[in-house]
Amino acid sequence: MKQGKYDHKKIEEKWQKKWLDEKIFTPDVKSARDPFYNLWMYPYPSAEGLHAGHAFSSTGSDIYGRFMRMRGKDVFQPIGYDSFGIHSENYALKIGEHPQKMLERTTKHYEYQLKKLGHGYDWTRTVTVSEPNYYRWTQWLFLKLFEAGLAYQKEAEVNFCPSCKTVVADEQVISGACERCGSQVERKSLKQWFFRITDYAERLLEGHKKIDWSERVVIAQKNWIGRSEGAEIKFKVQDADFEIKVFTTRPDTLFGATFMVVSPSYAKNNLLKFVDEERKSEVESYIRKSEQKSVNDLERDKTGVFLGLLAVNPANDTPMPVFVADYVLDTYGTGAVMGVPAHDERDFEFAQKYHLKVIPVIDSNNDYSKSAYSGEGKIINSGDWDGKKYPDDFKFILDYIKKKGWGEKKVSYHLRDWLISRQRYWGPPIPLVYCESCAKKGLSYFSLNKKLLRKDQSDWNPAGWWPVPEDDLPVLLPNLKNWRPEGSGKGPLAAYPDFYETKCPHCGAKAVRETDVSDTFLDSSWYFLRYPSVGYDNVPFDSEITEKWLPVDLYFGGAEHSVLHLMYARFITMVLYDLGLISFDEPFPRFFAHGLMIKDGAKMSKSRGNVVNPDEYIEKYGADTLRLYLMFMGPMDGYPDFRDEGIEGMRRFVERVFRLLNLDGVFLEEKDAAILKTKMHQTIKKVTEDIEKFGYNTAIAQIMTFVNFLEGLAPFKGQTFKGGIWEEAIRNLTLLLAPFAPHLAEEVWQTRFAKSKGAFKSIHLESWPEYDPSLIVEDTVKIPVQVNGKLRSVLEIQAQDSKNENKVIELAKADSKVNKWLEGKKIKKTIFVPGKLLSFVV
Ligand SMILES: [Zn+2]
Ligand SMILES: [Zn+2]
Repeated sequence: MKQGKYDHKKIEEKWQKKWLDEKIFTPDVKSARDPFYNLWMYPYPSAEGLHAGHAFSSTGSDIYGRFMRMRGKDVFQPIGYDSFGIHSENYALKIGEHPQKMLERTTKHYEYQLKKLGHGYDWTRTVTVSEPNYYRWTQWLFLKLFEAGLAYQKEAEVNFCPSCKTVVADEQVISGACERCGSQVERKSLKQWFFRITDYAERLLEGHKKIDWSERVVIAQKNWIGRSEGAEIKFKVQDADFEIKVFTTRPDTLFGATFMVVSPSYAKNNLLKFVDEERKSEVESYIRKSEQKSVNDLERDKTGVFLGLLAVNPANDTPMPVFVADYVLDTYGTGAVMGVPAHDERDFEFAQKYHLKVIPVIDSNNDYSKSAYSGEGKIINSGDWDGKKYPDDFKFILDYIKKKGWGEKKVSYHLRDWLISRQRYWGPPIPLVYCESCAKKGLSYFSLNKKLLRKDQSDWNPAGWWPVPEDDLPVLLPNLKNWRPEGSGKGPLAAYPDFYETKCPHCGAKAVRETDVSDTFLDSSWYFLRYPSVGYDNVPFDSEITEKWLPVDLYFGGAEHSVLHLMYARFITMVLYDLGLISFDEPFPRFFAHGLMIKDGAKMSKSRGNVVNPDEYIEKYGADTLRLYLMFMGPMDGYPDFRDEGIEGMRRFVERVFRLLNLDGVFLEEKDAAILKTKMHQTIKKVTEDIEKFGYNTAIAQIMTFVNFLEGLAPFKGQTFKGGIWEEAIRNLTLLLAPFAPHLAEEVWQTRFAKSKGAFKSIHLESWPEYDPSLIVEDTVKIPVQVNGKLRSVLEIQAQDSKNENKVIELAKADSKVNKWLEGKKIKKTIFVPGKLLSFVV
């Protein structure tokens, strides 16, 4: 066989084309026998293109897919683009290009790059979420939620990014800043659409028990859901027909409550109407100012304004002053807090500032002129509760509160409903219509008495709202000239009567379309359902195909999506399950959270100028070298460090492997053949087990050790010796390399091992090698031999002889390196540890 130069460009282009032509990564979704859905989190096609971090994680996913395919699975590995959303739109704004035009270019670039990496994607079933044939079904999904009673519109204080000029969900605010652009987020009161994800809080927690996810991801979700048990207590407002409801996890401190604080939006929506005229302007201006503050500022200074109202503590009938204070966020509990300055640090600070009473109700030696005591302990100054303890007497206290009618036990969650509307352009228009005429009659979709998953709609006013009929989908996003956000609280579509003027689907009167678009996380909350059904244009997902391929067998992606994407996708899946549209309620039973690649010891970023572009490396070293290097750098879930020296070393290794795999044949002595056989089976075992647990770096290390060993056996090259163990070892090595270096492995396979006649069969459709456990044990054992405690030689002995004392002594004495220390001396003592050690004392 010819020993050609390793020309990566020629080899890689050739096989990429062949794989595509032969459709080897395109399973028959209808008739597949043993389906395995291998999914990589789809990228958002940024203008900069795919970076090496994407290459790192997508290669990790691809290796697993190839491995499972060789183990006999019908692997489906799709790819698509998260092309809607603020991220794309913001970049389009920056470069002054229409997002549609920009994305046509960037998705093409991504496709080119992903193909160059040699990944085994099914390119016949891609998804681009900004295309009407996809977002038609995203709108359909919105309708399903609306029609189930799981969507509602409400005036709410929301996070507003002044730079993105839109609202952002709580989850998308990272320590006070917009997750997309980094600007400090403001708060505004605006009408918004929400999904009732909080109805599913308990299910989302329960579901964790049946999924195989890394612990840190589950913990992040648990923290975000933030379940806490406590009580909801009602405080009557004096001279007003109103009760303030407060959730507290410390009902044991109720007798110590001396004031109340409510959030600005709570004050505005519920209490402002009771405020005296002379105070009103001060209160209103405080509310206005607080809306302009960033979340971080709120945490820093605790300011407030007395509303002139008194609420009554039900426990001791004491009137307590009510304040509006912007350190109380709507995201906690109800937006109202009972101030217990003796036992809460923030309440204490506030009480100091406004000279409010501090009443200790938990026994401690604390100095209440200096600080609060927030620990637990014996209850004091609390009537019947004195001497009780919290949480030991949790039940007693809650029963007491309930019996007296002060309130009741309640479970609270940090999780808020999913804010789904965006006052932006680049998303699917929300498929709802508002009819003034129906609204006047109090008519809405909910007055038709359809079956709802959520019956109670009393928390909003749905009058006038109708879903767009399914047959009218998609509601097309018009190609606007002026698509820039104005920041007025309305999206760009609101300026286009051609878009919003329509007829009421119910009564036919003149009506208007909703002009907000939906959050991009809705696009990604169901894309995995679409992939196998691409091509089925009359359904979002074909039920038979979905039954066959879902849930996803392995989901591979970044841990940074723990609380956003992964939570939303789980919620949507649960809703579809409840609607009887699918038969499973967890979309990703197995999720692997990969780590983050760094470059020369630092996080990759444009400002550091250390962003690795995979294209250059593929051009120079080849995709196989890059893939092997990316996987060899470190553990898949760690922070591997990309270094140029490292990839050069890998290229040299690849050339050596290619040479070795092309060696004609090697004549081996019987002893060497036996050792080779053992090493080969050991290597198959280690590589197999490591890939199963994503230990790609150690799998490659084992392959390298095996290559070194084979090279050590190769001094007889030139002699032809076909067949036998050498050929078997080379064959298996080629197969083991296939997931990591797919092009190189294919090249060797087709020229050396594939049958010359008949149809093309790719190495990637061959069977993964098996190992024989009985052959793993080494035939020979190394036994160190000591004389007077000094190591003099190491004997290599047949395994079966190594436990035979007489035999080992005999062999030791025959060894010249031992013998010279024994000569003319008398052996006083012999210590033998079977199979391990021989020691003479002379
Ligand atoms: Zn922003
Ligand atoms: Zn109507």
